[in-house]
Amino acid sequence: MTTTNPHHSIVIIGGGAAGAGMAHRVVEQLKCTDVAVIEPSEVHYYQPMWTLVGAGIVNRKTTARNMADLLPRQANWIKERVASVDPDQKVVTAEGGNKIGYDWLIVAAGLKLDWERVDGLSKEIVGQHGICSNYSYDTVDDTWEMLRNFTGGTALFTMPPMPIKCPGAPQKIAYLAEDYFRRKGIRDRCTVHYLTATPGIFGVKKYADALTNRVLKPRDIQTSYRHNLVAIRPEAREAVFENLDSGETVVHQYDMIHVTPPQSPPDFVKNSPLANEAGWVDVDQYTMRHVRYPNVFALGDCAGSPNSKTAAAVRSQAPVVVRNLAAAMGGGDLKAQYDGYGSCPLVTRYGRVILAEFLYGGEVRETFPFDQGKERLSMYLLKRYVLPLVYWKGLVKGRQWPKPVPRDFGSGHDPL
Ligand code: FAD
Repeated sequence: MTTTNPHHSIVIIGGGAAGAGMAHRVVEQLKCTDVAVIEPSEVHYYQPMWTLVGAGIVNRKTTARNMADLLPRQANWIKERVASVDPDQKVVTAEGGNKIGYDWLIVAAGLKLDWERVDGLSKEIVGQHGICSNYSYDTVDDTWEMLRNFTGGTALFTMPPMPIKCPGAPQKIAYLAEDYFRRKGIRDRCTVHYLTATPGIFGVKKYADALTNRVLKPRDIQTSYRHNLVAIRPEAREAVFENLDSGETVVHQYDMIHVTPPQSPPDFVKNSPLANEAGWVDVDQYTMRHVRYPNVFALGDCAGSPNSKTAAAVRSQAPVVVRNLAAAMGGGDLKAQYDGYGSCPLVTRYGRVILAEFLYGGEVRETFPFDQGKERLSMYLLKRYVLPLVYWKGLVKGRQWPKPVPRDFGSGHDPL
């Protein structure tokens, strides 16, 4: 339903993993009848599945649903893109010029893919000249197309500077590609090279060690750390990297390249008083409330909390936001705290996953009573079949489904 009502009690910006679920929570749990969701897209995407789409395991159509079917009927869906926010006046302005006032604002607008920050790269060029990317619905099919048609040569996989969404995704597709080349019988003709701006393979030591010793070394996957893709020359099939330590320029020839685009906060956040120094919504990392505007909360990828930007994090942030919003609306103290939970199902080959789970500061907090640093079929089946249900039936419906496991059993969280 679309409305022209210029003021709402609660306004949510974004109808993605974070915004759709929050809309259900404020309608169903807070019984708020005056809620608006500002979201321009007709389609909602389950992005975590794009890793398996790029590897030819899942059809991309299964990752898309109509936005209209996901948002709660009781909420007013304003099908527009936010251009600016004035938190002093409590007004959001859409690109078309419409102004929407609010009492309470929840910012859940995700992040922006900056393809053009790599010289010579654009979203339009992906799919040509051996360039592919799992990072958008429009391009994810090209990855599988290029893997299938690969007959040997050099395959590069890149990761830009953090923060990005799902920091594990750039390497997951490298592992799947390597496994695919092996199964196809062409591995001895392929060089698989993962180049990342980060100083190591993963931010949590337990999983970094597991990946190095169980995946990278035995399978001869080359790595270059602190290497940032700065330019691409599609005709010549050359990728230009800056060595972030020495400042040197390094050029690699490729036959195919999987690019993870640089990422940044949404412009309307970056250019508003809501932003922190880096441009993300300046929230308290525990309460998820804005540090200067007490009637503003944020969650998901646009939030400035120093967690790993994942849908799994959203699932832990959402109950905190709704409880703290309820407390704030009632004039009480904010008691709920987000502990920084993030999870990353590291698909290390077809049918195997290392399930990384951790809190703020990289503290390991695993759900299952076995060593999650090992590659497991069970964790792959979780990723492939269970987590999509957790997403569609739980997260975006605003439900903690299935119920979190008790604290003394596992992490008390659920991966996604
Ligand atoms: P999104 O889900 O991206 O939603 C943002 C919404 O805001 C969109 O609907 C958009 O249209 C809307 N919007 C944007 N700008 C505006 C504006 N100006 N005005 C109004 N609305 C706006 N996470 C995991 O937990 N596990 C995984 O295995 C995993 N794998 C991933 C693999 C890939 C390839 C990718 C790309 C992501 C992966 N993620 C994974 C990350 C996960 O998808 C995101 O962290 C999650 O979707 C964040 O939710 P969000 O609501 O903040 O952003």
